[in-house]
Amino acid sequence: MFTSEELLYVTDHGLTVRAHAMLAAARAYFVGHQEAVGALFIEHGMQYPMFLKSGYEGGPWGGTQRGSVPRGRGWGFTSGGPSQGNIATHVEGHASAVMWQRTAGYAVLIVDRPMCSVCHRSLHATLPPNSTLVVYSDEEGRTIVRASHAR
Ligand SMILES: [Zn+2]
Repeated sequence: MFTSEELLYVTDHGLTVRAHAMLAAARAYFVGHQEAVGALFIEHGMQYPMFLKSGYEGGPWGGTQRGSVPRGRGWGFTSGGPSQGNIATHVEGHASAVMWQRTAGYAVLIVDRPMCSVCHRSLHATLPPNSTLVVYSDEEGRTIVRASHAR
């Protein structure tokens, strides 16, 4: 069961028409980008979307390219350079970075594909302490990711 708030984003049949429209807007925003895109919302409500894309930089709203994310031992972001295997280049990793940059304790991410194995394995270890990121996609519905780090 989804809460009334969540029904903005997802139903039992996948993302809502409105969520798909958000992803289409994100896709249109990043002209020529063929890989993953998403829309991030701090707190609840589908307002003021921050469009994100995969790659070295997540877009003008923020991302790992701006720094201020912990890297290395014990954290999901590796200290190596940007690569497909480093969650720092994934939409989800950029979403986590925006949470750090905005000191957000809760955020919602709509993404245009299911999370990859790297994100499933490491996203929780990238998040700000005690924070929660809820990820919605057609394929996976709702995935609640709670930070593995506590303050
Ligand atoms: Zn990923």
